[in-house]
Amino acid sequence: MRLKDKVAIITGSSTKGIGYAVALGFIDEGAKVVVCGVGDNDTADALERLKQDRPNGDYLAVKVDVTKLEDVENVFKVAKEKWGHIDILVNNAGIAPAKSIEEMSDEDFEVVLNINTFGTFRCTREAVKYMKDNGGSIINTSSFVSLYGSNSQSAYTASKAAINGLTKSNAKELGKYKIRVNAIAPGVVMTDMVKNTVDEKTIGYLQMMTPLGRGATPEDLVGLYIYLASDESSFTTGTIINIDGGLVM
Ligand code: NAD
Repeated sequence: MRLKDKVAIITGSSTKGIGYAVALGFIDEGAKVVVCGVGDNDTADALERLKQDRPNGDYLAVKVDVTKLEDVENVFKVAKEKWGHIDILVNNAGIAPAKSIEEMSDEDFEVVLNINTFGTFRCTREAVKYMKDNGGSIINTSSFVSLYGSNSQSAYTASKAAINGLTKSNAKELGKYKIRVNAIAPGVVMTDMVKNTVDEKTIGYLQMMTPLGRGATPEDLVGLYIYLASDESSFTTGTIINIDGGLVM
C-alpha cells in the first residue's frame, strides 16, 4: 500500500481516460481519492462506476470545472472536511481541440489556455494552502507535444509548454514547504481525447515513430503517477518525465 491514508484530488477524472485510471490505481494503493467531473451528470456517472469498479474504496465524486474558482475552492474544502488533510493533487483536466492557426480565433486559443494552464495554476495555488504545513505532491499533466510540436494544435502545445514552465517554477518556489511539483509528459494514449481529435493517419504515423510500436493505454501510465504521488519519490521535484514508448528522446 504505497499511498496508504494519503488523500488525493484528481481533476478531470470522471471520464474513462487517464484520470480515472489513476484514481483506480491510487485507490488500490490505499489512497482516499476525490474523482472530479466537469458537470453534474458525469460526476454522478463516475460515482456509479466507482461503486462497481472499487466497491470497498474510500472516495468522493465532486463537480469541479477548473475554470471556476468557486469549484476549485469547494473541492479542497470538501476533501479537508471529510479526511482532515490533502496530500496529492493531480492536475489532469484538459482539452485538445485541433484547428489550424489561420482559423483559430482569440477565443479558441483562450479556452484551451484557460482549462489546461490556468486550471493547473488555480488548483495548484489552492493546494498550497492545504499542503504548506505538511508537504505534498503535485503532479501536472504535460504532453509529448510540449517538446515535439503538433500540427493544428498551437493552443494545446502552448498550454502544455506553459505547464512545463509552471512545474519548474512552482517546484523551486514550493520546495520550502516540502511540496514537490512534477509533470508527466505522455505520448499517444488511446483515450477519447485522441480518438476524437487526432485522425487515424496521424495516429498511425505516431505509432510508427514510437520505438515500442503502439499507443499507450491509460493503465500504462498509472505506475508513474503512483511513484510521483508516493514517498518513494521524496527527492524528486521539478522534473518533466516522458512516458511515451520512446517517441521523444
Ligand atoms: P480525457 O478527455 O478522457 O480527459 C480529460 C478530462 O478533462 C475529461 O474528463 C474532461 O471532462 C475533463 N475536462 C475538460 N474540461 C474541463 C474543465 N473545464 N474542468 C475540469 N475538467 C475538464 O482525455 P485524456 O487523454 O485522459 O487526458 C487527460 C490529460 O492527459 C489531459 O490533460 C491531456 O491533455 C493529457 N494528455 C493526453 C494524451 C493522450 O494521448 N490522450 C497525451 C498527452 C497528454
